[in-house]
Amino acid sequence: MLAKTGSEARLANGFTNHILAGSFLSVAVIPHRNPCHDGDVMSLCIKKIGWAIFLCAIPALAASTLTVRWQPVTLVNGAPVFFQVNSPTPLKALSGTWLDKDLSFSYDPSSRSWYALGGISLKTSPGRYTLHLSGLTKAGHPIELRRDVHVSRGNYKVVVALSVPKKFTEPDPKQVDQINHDKSLKDEAFKKTTPAQEWAGAFKPPVDASYSDVFGTQRKFNGAVLSIHQGLDYRVPTGTPVSAVNAGTVLLAQSLFFEGNCVVIDHGQGLLTLYLHLSKLLVKEGDRIERGQQIGISGATGRATGAHLHLAVRWRGEYLDPATLLTLRLPETTSENESGEQKN
Ligand SMILES: [Zn+2]
Repeated sequence: MLAKTGSEARLANGFTNHILAGSFLSVAVIPHRNPCHDGDVMSLCIKKIGWAIFLCAIPALAASTLTVRWQPVTLVNGAPVFFQVNSPTPLKALSGTWLDKDLSFSYDPSSRSWYALGGISLKTSPGRYTLHLSGLTKAGHPIELRRDVHVSRGNYKVVVALSVPKKFTEPDPKQVDQINHDKSLKDEAFKKTTPAQEWAGAFKPPVDASYSDVFGTQRKFNGAVLSIHQGLDYRVPTGTPVSAVNAGTVLLAQSLFFEGNCVVIDHGQGLLTLYLHLSKLLVKEGDRIERGQQIGISGATGRATGAHLHLAVRWRGEYLDPATLLTLRLPETTSENESGEQKN
């Protein structure tokens, strides 16, 4: 449940281009920028141990406590978040909401903890937001928990000017039809996401290369169209093998107007990864993919200024910073173990 919602209403007026707003590459939004600040003293205090940890009293069970932790320690708009919850009282199930979106929890027997991947929209303003957890003990007692979590403002780059062929900023009617067709394809694909966890363990880079642009950069195409970069660009020449960052199922493997040859993988828990501008697709929709499996060959198809790989991360409709996802320390628990009862 949201404690604050002011930012989204303000920024809704900032959408300036409906075509770009529908692409995987970027959104045509320029947010206001305030000085960065972080008033979360508790987060600063626990930085040394690499987790934000809070002990929370459970009203329904006076003798019990829940421990809620998250990565990264300092949360910013645009960041993915990994929540981990421990309960000394075994639970049958745990669910949660964060920023008005559902969290899908899995259970890790090795650490006796429940965990879920989530995220924070780029449009979210700094402030405190409420994490809401609902559990059920093995004895059948409900547990409710609310915990305020601080979100700081991310330090994203200012406007970068780029040049692309005119069709990408001033498409003709036939190209607009293609763009609308692509949008329908993507909308259908996004409806097929599954809450069940398919990822396992840390996310791995799709290529071994440096970045040519980072997430959150404000861009101006051909001197006119403003947008925000919604992915991470790797500096790779055409012909470089591209691998899946984690296990999942291919939701979409198609050639699209802006994205070029594009693969979308569903990792479960609402999390998708997208691989753009490929010269060749090596998978098809419905394929089950393992972490590190080759899914395509890099290229410069679609709206690209040159050969590179654009990696994007999407959680329940919001694009998140892939670089942060790649730093999270995550359990190796497989989907076979998830959603079972907590055994103590
Ligand atoms: Zn990009």
